Amino acid sequence: MGQAKTRGTQDQRIAQAKAKVDALRPAKMVCGACKTSFTDFGLIDARGMPGIHAAFGGVCPSCGETVLAFSGDKDAVANAMIAWQDAMGAEGKLGMQSRDGSHKFFEN
Ligand SMILES: [Zn+2]
Repeated sequence: MGQAKTRGTQDQRIAQAKAKVDALRPAKMVCGACKTSFTDFGLIDARGMPGIHAAFGGVCPSCGETVLAFSGDKDAVANAMIAWQDAMGAEGKLGMQSRDGSHKFFEN
């Protein structure tokens, strides 16, 4: 009986976490370079980013620019954007370079 209860709690927790991310997910993203709005973007793994509740990213269908949206504490979002720009400068491709060298791609 204890196990069933634990499993239900975990399911609830996963559902709550998913609902929270869904609530944070923007309806669309707007390209900073050409102002094209698009809805085809994915969730970024933001677990290694302190203060970030959710992060989303995609590629502009018009010009190929990487477009990102971070949700979280104001300072954390600013730091995440700077870290991202540093990573993009070094990598120049979609994905995120984490400190341990692993590459995290977008999840859809
Ligand atoms: Zn664009």
